This record gives sequence, C-alpha cells and structure tokens, in this order.
Amino acid sequence: MTAPTRFPEMSILGVYAHPDDEQGISGTMRILIERGVRTGLVCATRGEVGEISDPTLATPESLGDVREDELRRAAAVIGIHEVHFLGYRDSGMAGSPPNDDPRAFIRADPVEAVGRIVRAIRRFQPTLVLTFDPSGVYGHPDHIAVNRWTTEAFHAVADTDKYPVAEFGHPFQPRRLYYSSVSRSLLIAFDQILRQQNLPSIFTGVDINQMGLPDEMITHRVMVAPYVALKRKSLEEHRTQMNPNTALAMISEEDWNRIRSVEMFALVAGDPLPPNADDQDLFTGLH
Ligand SMILES: [Zn+2]
Repeated sequence: MTAPTRFPEMSILGVYAHPDDEQGISGTMRILIERGVRTGLVCATRGEVGEISDPTLATPESLGDVREDELRRAAAVIGIHEVHFLGYRDSGMAGSPPNDDPRAFIRADPVEAVGRIVRAIRRFQPTLVLTFDPSGVYGHPDHIAVNRWTTEAFHAVADTDKYPVAEFGHPFQPRRLYYSSVSRSLLIAFDQILRQQNLPSIFTGVDINQMGLPDEMITHRVMVAPYVALKRKSLEEHRTQMNPNTALAMISEEDWNRIRSVEMFALVAGDPLPPNADDQDLFTGLH
C-alpha cells in the first residue's frame, strides 16, 4: 500500500459560528492533519446562549467562558492547530430574545463582520476556506450569517482599498471556498429516523426542503468512518451541550455512526476542480 500524499505546504481554515459547529468537519480536519496540513478554526461567537446540560458546569453568565474552553479542548482532541474567536455574541435560535442583544452576531455591522473575517484569513493565510452552507444546515441565524459574511470575505480578502494593509494585514487570496453541509436527501432521511422513533425533529420552524444543499451541489463526500470514535471523543468535550434528552443523544449508535461517517462539501468559489477530481481530497488539483 502506498502512503497517502502529504500536503505540508497546504492549510485550511474553517469559519463557523459556535463552539461545536466544527463537529461537521472534524473527521476531514483530522485526515488533513495526518497529511501535514496546517489547520485553523475561526469561531464568531462563544455560544453564550446554548444549553447548560448540567448546572454544575456553567451558569448563563459563565457559559461563554466555559464553551470557549470546551471548543479549545474539542479542537485539541482532533489536533487542530489554532482556534480564534471573533468576539461576537451567540444570537440564539430564530425569534428568541438573544436575537435582540446589541452584541449578537446577527446584529453586527456587516462591513465590520466581514472585516474581522478578512483579518483572520489574512493572518492565517489558508489555501482553503470552509464555512456553512447558506441554510446553515438547519436554519440557525448565526450559521446563515457566518455563511454570508465568510463568502463576502473570501471575495474581498485581497482588496487593499477596502481592507487596508495597516488595519487588516497583508492581502492573501485563498485558492478555494467550500461550504460544508449535509445533502438534502440525508437530512430528510435523518428526519424520518427521528419521526419513526418519536424523537423531536431538529427542523422546527424551517422547511426541510430548503435545508442543507441539493445533492447535486455536493462535490466531496469525505469518508471518515475510521474517525467516528475520535469525533465522538471530541464532541464529548462540549460537555455543556451533552443534554441526554435531545434527539441527537437518543438515536441509536448505528444511526449515529451512519450519519457521522461521511462529511460533505461543495466547492463554491476559487480554482475549479480538475477533470477526474478526487472527491475525498479538498485540495484536488492544487498540489
Ligand atoms: Zn451552531
């Protein structure tokens, strides 16, 4: 067997909204780390209005600090090299009171939010940028916002008129932008599993037929089955989010592993894929 190609000169930066959003890309990140890729995560908020599974772990006041620490631990389990926070506040689910907090990510000035992402990209200088798809997989307003502003940042990151060197650092253009997502067919299948088992849907208040990405948009389905146990170990570092009564906690091990053993991506901007692109390799054609 030949050793997998190593990519020590390559790097990848995921830009997401909350601690635990990285779970959808953690297996892919691990594979890339083993191949010598430099990896980083940008997290727009500290998940300040998420769950508190156990009142001994955090209070509403301390949850942001606790979840920052949880993300750093979860990232360390995977081996992710850098974690950077943008300093916004979790906006909460659509229609909830935290939407109105002036520090909420969704209330950020768009120019400033894009600027913070531009600065993070210029500092890290990634070959590839990853973020959520435009639905945020299941419609969370912060996921939708981070998609929109990261996409804008990808296209504006080399523009030194808009983002001067003195304030934002030296320009750098990543080669590709991918959206990490779940195919619509898998989301619908997952929702059916929940219904069959009388578990609460995670698709409340949204049209599931608009969530995730249409199957034909997915360019990469990275098989991460060998990393499912490591992914779970990383997920469990998000202790405040481990509520045993959620649908995700109640599905069977088999269903869980089926859903977690593939991570999906869609190339949306930058260098096109070569003919016969390797759908396991986000860097295909670049090395
Ligand atoms: Zn999230």
